[in-house]
Amino acid sequence: MFSFHSIEEYHRFLDANPDGCQVAVRHYLSRIEENKSLNAFLEVFAAEALERAKWLDEKRRSGGARGKLHGVVVALKDVLSYKHHRLSAGSRILENFTAIYDATVVEKLLAEEAILIGRNNCDEFAMGSTNENSAYGNVLNALDPSRVPGGSSGGSAVAVQAGLCMVSLGSDTGGSVRQPADFCGILGLKPSYGRISRYGLVAYASSFDQIGIFGTNTPDIALVLEVIAGADDYDSTAAAHPPPLPRPEELEAGKGHKFRIAFFKDALTHPSLDPVIAAQFETYFERLRADGHTVEGVDFEYLDYIVPTYYVLTTAEASSNLSRFDGVKYGYRTPDTGEDLTSFYKKTRSEGFGAEVKRRILLGTFVLSAGYYEAYFTKAQQVRKILVDRTSLLFNDFDIIILPTAPTTAFPIGEKKNDPIAMYLADIYTVYANLTGIPGISIPLFRHSNGMPFGVQAMTNRFKELSLLQFSHLMMQQYKSYENPTLCD
Ligand code: GLN
Repeated sequence: MFSFHSIEEYHRFLDANPDGCQVAVRHYLSRIEENKSLNAFLEVFAAEALERAKWLDEKRRSGGARGKLHGVVVALKDVLSYKHHRLSAGSRILENFTAIYDATVVEKLLAEEAILIGRNNCDEFAMGSTNENSAYGNVLNALDPSRVPGGSSGGSAVAVQAGLCMVSLGSDTGGSVRQPADFCGILGLKPSYGRISRYGLVAYASSFDQIGIFGTNTPDIALVLEVIAGADDYDSTAAAHPPPLPRPEELEAGKGHKFRIAFFKDALTHPSLDPVIAAQFETYFERLRADGHTVEGVDFEYLDYIVPTYYVLTTAEASSNLSRFDGVKYGYRTPDTGEDLTSFYKKTRSEGFGAEVKRRILLGTFVLSAGYYEAYFTKAQQVRKILVDRTSLLFNDFDIIILPTAPTTAFPIGEKKNDPIAMYLADIYTVYANLTGIPGISIPLFRHSNGMPFGVQAMTNRFKELSLLQFSHLMMQQYKSYENPTLCD
């Protein structure tokens, strides 16, 4: 019986098993089949994955050099372009669209010999926090199928949570990797803006979007990050010379480190925060202090501005990005072509987009409109700049900022579906990292009295993934009191 604990251990298993990649792929294919009701996959690349596993096994037998992700079984959020494969972004408007090129991250995964097992369900155009906005049905949380898995990368989170792949990629514009990781009891990293090329990622809000990684342990996350990060001629926002990423031995070295940690006082006393989570954070801070780290509450007067700022700026960017879906060049086209071009566009877009996407296009168009541009869009840009400046000052005195990842644990499906404001407000702790471009990770440390997991969100200064992953590694080894029962052998 195959079981997965880490890529390193899997690679040792492959040393001793000439058919190891095929064994792993068969294992995951049968687990995906058994867990179909979770709706985590929109498509499984079964035949192709098996064929690739066979090729990798043969390559190993013939003594060929191995890629860094040799045989690692990876799932992709359905917003990443994989040549000759469907790409729907969870939307009807792209239902029959086939990708014509590989995203840079896909190219890099393949070059290091990963096996891509399928594409994951997600909220339409990555807009949402529960996966209820997918045109292809909810994804269910494997720990409690009556609850949401989080979103928008819910399918990718559940794929790792339920042991349907080893690691997966998602995208995080305002928390879409960290929040579902939190709801599912796994690790979810959003790297610094500019760490990973966005080429081939379906754009939601381009100055916020970043590809992120789900996994079960820090070394796996660090390894995948090392593979997919880097400059790219096709994305000028991917940093040309970023500071280096951690090497495996550097993760261990972090264990002797005493971190200077800040938290926002208002965040921990915020009325939306579940009291059980708040109390656990108090205990956690005490333990960190007892272990020699410094933990200080700081005043951060902008907390209540970050969600409105995020929703003004991201909807503005989305309204522009999504204007390309017009039924002319590709994607869904209304059968009723009407009398003129304008009514053709209107019909195509009304029929092709779901309610949340329409809401955001309308909001974004409004905040960019001539009469309101200064009051909303310009103002929000100014707030973003203040946040960036304040954040870089904070990092003069601290290594890490800690916040909860989400104000509650995973909630029942349907609870917030018809209340967009409540849904947006729940992004209070995650959108900050996207507004400022800093990296953040959700670390699954605790279990709530309701049985569901919840994590700690750690953030560092921009491009300080080294210290972020060292901290994460330390937490996973010494502070984790939650064991995920769905990560079964
Ligand atoms: N929940 C946030 C939103 O709906 C985050 C989305 C994301 O990160 N893609 O905008």
